Amino acid sequence: MKKAIRIADLFRREQELLGRTARVRGWVRTRRDSKAGISFIELNDGSCLKNLQIIVDLNLPQLTETVQKVSTGSSMQVEGVVNASPGKGQSIELHASGIELYGGADPATYPLQKKRHSFEFLRQIAHLRPRTNTIGAVARVRNRLSYAIHQFFQDRGFYYVHTPIITSSDCEGAGEVFRVTTLKPENMVGNEAGEAAAGDFFGKPAYLTVSGQLQAEIYALALGNVYTFGPTFRAENSNTSRHLAEFWMVEPEMAFCDLEEDLEIAQALIQRLVEVVLTDCREDLDFFVRFIEPTLRDTLEKVVESPFETVSYTDALELLKKSRESFSFPVDWGSDLQAEHERYLTEKVFKKPVAVVHFPRSLKPFYMRVNDDEKTVAAMDILVPGIGEIVGGSQREERLDVLLEQMKLKGVSPDDYRWYVELREYGSVPHAGFGLGLERLLQFTTGLPNIREVIPFPRTPGHADF
Ligand code: ATP
Ligand code: MN
Repeated sequence: MKKAIRIADLFRREQELLGRTARVRGWVRTRRDSKAGISFIELNDGSCLKNLQIIVDLNLPQLTETVQKVSTGSSMQVEGVVNASPGKGQSIELHASGIELYGGADPATYPLQKKRHSFEFLRQIAHLRPRTNTIGAVARVRNRLSYAIHQFFQDRGFYYVHTPIITSSDCEGAGEVFRVTTLKPENMVGNEAGEAAAGDFFGKPAYLTVSGQLQAEIYALALGNVYTFGPTFRAENSNTSRHLAEFWMVEPEMAFCDLEEDLEIAQALIQRLVEVVLTDCREDLDFFVRFIEPTLRDTLEKVVESPFETVSYTDALELLKKSRESFSFPVDWGSDLQAEHERYLTEKVFKKPVAVVHFPRSLKPFYMRVNDDEKTVAAMDILVPGIGEIVGGSQREERLDVLLEQMKLKGVSPDDYRWYVELREYGSVPHAGFGLGLERLLQFTTGLPNIREVIPFPRTPGHADF
């Protein structure tokens, strides 16, 4: 095919291209014919939010016939001259000299008409929803953030490690697992972890990963600083606006690192990623501010400008107890922070991101480092306004004896985690890491209330379409 210019590049280079010929391709958002014999077509190619206005003179016989077939949703190529636009809302427009139609879209059935559709409806047409302003903007921000995650770690000398998707360790306590099996249902008799699994593909029970942390630890204890970034699976049977069964998580793991430095890196990462959205996704951010969440830009700017708050779990609990809020879950030392507690702390008390540190030992998995008080572990959760938890992390237990004691306490068999124990027998070092959910970060940076809108194909209980 002959080269065409992306519409984003056309706008970027408009001064230089004025008066010159350009070729663009994309999908039609709208077409409107004026009485004066001009057809106005709004064309979008996904390279930016803005449409390019195409002007078609209906007195040109070679174009008139083609234009009659152009409707919302159809795809086409246009050649024409770039002109300054007299209309408001755009600086340039393309005066068509040639139009080639690729595919039509029957107006009687094309689901995306020029009106606002509910997000729920759009999820049912996930094959077409990236052609809407909102989902297109999300896709561009998601792309930029993914790239920025790699840039952040690569700039700091971290190695990208590919941890497995199929695993036999379940990262104890991270969430409900999906079982991976090739057994036919009729051969699935026997207990979960026992007989049936012996005849299964791996000869033992296997699962989709709930976290790459344990394997990332292996590489941190050889390469220093590493990160893994990939899909993660949890059979969360809860229908909330912030949980998916399949989501993407970035998990750095650092050798010779304690909780304080762990927190510093997490803060630097979040601030950098928010900054990238502010500087590199301006047009999409403007859209979210205008149509989704008016306070979004202010919130994001504040995140970049000021350091996060830190509060111990114990102090956080006091703050919750003192509040006049009526929470539906208990606020007693030893009970987990629920979304309502998290949001109260970050939205009402601190009004900014807050790191809650040093959780009760009983609440957290065996691998978190036991503090000197022996009641708490060196864990951290970072909470942000509008969402609650966005990061969960900890310093890991590097002392062999304490790790074994923790395993015993939590009923985790050292035989099942032989290799994990050996990492403490051979050249153990203090180390720490955390997990940041990409979709939660996207909710935070786009203002979209439901996590199902920030991943292309959401998987939730009862939904694995497309
Ligand atoms: P929550 O308490 O919100 O269910 P969690 O404590 O189970 O989260 P972690 O195990 O600490 O989560 O996972 C690290 C990060 O991964 C979380 O801070 C969050 O950003 C993200 N995350 C966890 N579970 C999900 C999920 N089901 N869908 C989307 N993101 C998730
Ligand atoms: Mn957590």
